[in-house]
Amino acid sequence: MSIQTIRTKAFQRQAGRCTYCGCPMWQSSPEHFAQQHQVTRKQASAFRCTAEHLHARCDGGTDAAGNIAAACYWCNSRRHQAKRPLSPEAYRAKVQQRMGKGRWHAARPT
Ligand SMILES: [Zn+2]
Repeated sequence: MSIQTIRTKAFQRQAGRCTYCGCPMWQSSPEHFAQQHQVTRKQASAFRCTAEHLHARCDGGTDAAGNIAAACYWCNSRRHQAKRPLSPEAYRAKVQQRMGKGRWHAARPT
């Protein structure tokens, strides 16, 4: 299975929502997403669906389906900016806390 297929399956399993922030994501049309959720095209770029390696590739994580979740670009890229990325569970808790304070995404898709 290609990584794209695995990502699409994760997207469907998660009802199109990011595994960390819970926001809706898009796979192929940022324009459509922007219109549907009343955000700008630029804001929509944060919500692109990406394949998140739960166990990071640099630590030996593989492309196996069980290691892939669907996460928005924003959450995915920020998790891996850390020198030692948090575990998926710890990172989700951190993101949820920030979301609760309105300090994560610049725009919240409606
Ligand atoms: Zn997210």
